[in-house]
Amino acid sequence: MTQQQYRITLLPGDGIGPEIMAVAVDVLKAVGQQENLTFEFEEALIGGAAIDATGEPLPTETLETCRQSDAVLLAAIGGWKWDSLPSHQRPERGLLGLRAGLGLFANLRPAKILPQLIDASTLKREVVEGVDIMVVRELTGGIYFGQPKGIFATETGEKRGVNTMAYTESEIDRIGRVAFETARKRGGKLCSVDKANVLEVSQLWRDRIIQLASEYQDVELSHLYVDNAAMQLVRAPKQFDTIVTGNLFGDILSDAAAMLTGSIGMLPSASLGASGPGVFEPVHGSAPDIAGLDKANPIAQVLSAAMMLRYGLNQATAADKIEQAVLQVLDNGYRTGDIMSDGMTFVGCRAMGDALLQALENPQN
Ligand code: NAD
Repeated sequence: MTQQQYRITLLPGDGIGPEIMAVAVDVLKAVGQQENLTFEFEEALIGGAAIDATGEPLPTETLETCRQSDAVLLAAIGGWKWDSLPSHQRPERGLLGLRAGLGLFANLRPAKILPQLIDASTLKREVVEGVDIMVVRELTGGIYFGQPKGIFATETGEKRGVNTMAYTESEIDRIGRVAFETARKRGGKLCSVDKANVLEVSQLWRDRIIQLASEYQDVELSHLYVDNAAMQLVRAPKQFDTIVTGNLFGDILSDAAAMLTGSIGMLPSASLGASGPGVFEPVHGSAPDIAGLDKANPIAQVLSAAMMLRYGLNQATAADKIEQAVLQVLDNGYRTGDIMSDGMTFVGCRAMGDALLQALENPQN
């Protein structure tokens, strides 16, 4: 096996960020040894930590370091300390700047029910058992960015709020391609969600996705209107494999799909551009209420590292090994506070990390 070398930028950020990042780095080193992958890690500042050190939530050096790497692993940003700063100086600006700076237009949010945590879901066991969905959301277009936007005075003096939902053919095609490729790496089914019965922008969306399908004949394509998709997600979520949709519908549906699993400390995500490094990060925030207490669940961060291997570096075997190790520690009964239930072994962040390293070393198939 030839040795592969990757430059990874680490952005631990704030709150529990550094604790969960430390676990993910140990896990990456361990799986790297097994798979002959060498990671050159470079840590950079973002969010509140960057504001404290430099006055900026995304220092220029951080963006430059990210651009020069093969992938970016981010933990979380934000916290009470910076909540009173004006909006352009707040930690969240660092995230938006990073997405824009790297041209990340595709957001991948998996929602997979793990058999060991099925009771954490608010839905019935028979409805959620076996759910494994990937929502591919367009991230840099649609109604959040379309022009005109703003609050304007009308001729009568009454105010009118305006946003514009717009997509060009090329914007639809590039997210469509990411979605078809993703479906191909998964169950081979893609459901495109739109509102083509009402919105012209959605009619164009649907037309382009149908056009693209001829290039991906191995992927089974279907279409749903967004209202029906929302209903189907809670009625019969197992029918979905990969979902592709625009920015607004994706914002809502990805959160609804994620909550089928019931546990925020378990959910990873990926944001990808046309070329260059992707950003891989947990869905949850910096959890300032438990920061520094060794209480955080590092699994979402570790699964983000697995997504980085699978979707950012094309190292599916290494990703499989990490995901398998997560299942094994859960099988062995280890639980952090957020996913604790009766009869399980309560562990902190570091001990969960040790259990993951053990599972990687001694896989029980
Ligand atoms: P949060 O996700 O940080 O926390 C919500 C609740 O979930 C808290 O009780 C927290 O303790 C718990 N939790 C979250 N992750 C956990 C984990 N890994 N293990 C155990 N418990 C966990 O959301 P919030 O409290 O609304 O926001 C806190 C800060 O995080 C804010 O400053 C917010 O702006 C920021 N935030 C950042 C991101 C990001 O970096 N992408 C996302 C959401 C929120």
